[in-house]
Amino acid sequence: MKVYADHAATTPLMPEALEVMLPFLKENFGNPSSIHSWARNPREAVREARAMIAKCINAEPEEIFFTSGGTEADNWVIKGSSGRLLVSSYEHHAVLNAAASEAKRGRDVVYVRPKVGNGGGYIMPEKLSKAWEDGIGLVSVMTANNEIGTINPIHLLSEFAHKRGALFHTDAVQAVGHIPIDVQEMGVDFLSASAHKFNGPKGMGFLFIRKGVKLESLLNGGQQENGLRAGTENVASIVGMATALKMNCERMEENTEHLENLTARLRDGIDRIFPDAIYLGDGVAGQLPGFTSVSFPGHPAEGLLHMLDLKGIAVSTGAACDSKNTKISHVLKAINATNDIALSTIRITLGLENTEADVKAILAALRVALMNKGGMSS
Ligand code: PLP
Repeated sequence: MKVYADHAATTPLMPEALEVMLPFLKENFGNPSSIHSWARNPREAVREARAMIAKCINAEPEEIFFTSGGTEADNWVIKGSSGRLLVSSYEHHAVLNAAASEAKRGRDVVYVRPKVGNGGGYIMPEKLSKAWEDGIGLVSVMTANNEIGTINPIHLLSEFAHKRGALFHTDAVQAVGHIPIDVQEMGVDFLSASAHKFNGPKGMGFLFIRKGVKLESLLNGGQQENGLRAGTENVASIVGMATALKMNCERMEENTEHLENLTARLRDGIDRIFPDAIYLGDGVAGQLPGFTSVSFPGHPAEGLLHMLDLKGIAVSTGAACDSKNTKISHVLKAINATNDIALSTIRITLGLENTEADVKAILAALRVALMNKGGMSS
């Protein structure tokens, strides 16, 4: 039996998304910018998709800018904004490395650390207050963390930044399609999203830019994306993303219930197998549905991951983008996890297609792997 339980890394493409994509990879191949009739369907599809996405996050269609994914959206905001940057130290590398690149070019970057400890991993306005310096132009704090699943109180953080004259960006790549997202309630100026995290196609995402807020253009060329991000649109992926997001938003309540039931069973089973298991990231505003970041002290995570993989179970140690990097994850460092905890933490992220049988299979494989004291070195 094979079980995929690494949905924070990526999710399978939803059949409904594939279905709406296919005509734009076949007969509806026209360029949306052309003048002739071949452009009509693709142009209309892009317009509809923009409106669908805007509706899902309570934005206006002209506030949605298509990008090649979360990394591009994050880089665009960080590099296209001005003034000092204040970013959290447990952001995804798409934000952290973009900020580091800005620092190299002479821009001031200030870091804010999340609350430490196993139940920590979130940021409150007091944290921003302690880190605050004059001249901060942009604050960037993620909606939900990709390693420990903690959700941040974004509305409080954006209010804090706005009162001091700064703009606010949130990387919502892990959150969009999974928890309610309302850019008005959140009060953000910029929000990044990525389709492959919510059952859409890879290499597709969007950036919300609030009307009236200035951001440097990302790519110069044609007039696509209001002249801010030039290049012929990836029509098939745009419609696939919009359909996946719409369906996930419409079914969010039942999806959440399904994932919470499975997660409760998983944790129950883990507690029976390994009573000393330590869960990370309960957070003050909760954790993403389906998300379990758990440490089995004394059992190296890499060994566990390989043993589970041999049984056909896919989980992760830190962020997938870091799978070649065996150093302690910057997220676990940021919350002050001890080396023992950090090196024995695995991330199990359940998704919509997972079943109770999958959870049983994960638990059975974990039981065997944990009997192997110390795990397998690699
Ligand atoms: N931001 C977060 C929080 C992520 O989890 C990821 C992907 O893992 C990204 C950004 C990058 O998104 P993409 O894979 O679409 O470039």
